[in-house]
Amino acid sequence: MRILLIEDNEKLARIMATALREQGHALDRSSDGVDGLHLALSEPYDLLIVDLGLPELSGLEVLRRVRADGTRDVPILVVTARDSVEDRVRGLDSGADDYLVKPFAVAELLARVRALLRRGSGSADAVLKVGETELDPARRRVRHAGEPVELSPREFSLLEYFMRRPGVVLSRSMILEHVWDYRSEILSNVIDVHVRRIRKKLGDPAGERTILTRRGMGYCFGQEEP
Ligand code: CA
Repeated sequence: MRILLIEDNEKLARIMATALREQGHALDRSSDGVDGLHLALSEPYDLLIVDLGLPELSGLEVLRRVRADGTRDVPILVVTARDSVEDRVRGLDSGADDYLVKPFAVAELLARVRALLRRGSGSADAVLKVGETELDPARRRVRHAGEPVELSPREFSLLEYFMRRPGVVLSRSMILEHVWDYRSEILSNVIDVHVRRIRKKLGDPAGERTILTRRGMGYCFGQEEP
């Protein structure tokens, strides 16, 4: 999933970014409110993580403006050093979905991110199941026809993106926007290469049962809904 992290504490941001990238997420970083807001409104993120104490524009103001935009119902996780009830209430009133108070454990960050992404995708079920393929986002495990499948973090992320939208044709640009961050070096065939590898690992090298090719349109996990 594609995540935007707006945090001005360089050291903390680096730790958070590393942990999230290790989970296979595409992560963009911004260190001030103005730049962060601009990115939040121009790119299709699946989750925003916003520090409240930001230079240029406060995190609360970023929250308010993202929510005021109306077209953005993206989940937002607020990170703050302040732990007063008043601050929490103000953040939640401004549109935050969840709160993380510094200092926090990386495991807690990852658990909250998982919960928010799950809510955003509308699936209450933690384990995704399409056809013979099962993907467990919390345990980072994939099984196909009952057998464990080893995927790289990026392959996992791409498969998760497909499996959250079974039967939907996804264009290459949609896939790029959600699975790769803007700093990635994107080669024109990067998606095709990853799709080929995943198919092979799922025992479907021709792409007949798992990730199907829709010529001129993109890819689709499983048959389209009629
Ligand atoms: Ca700060």
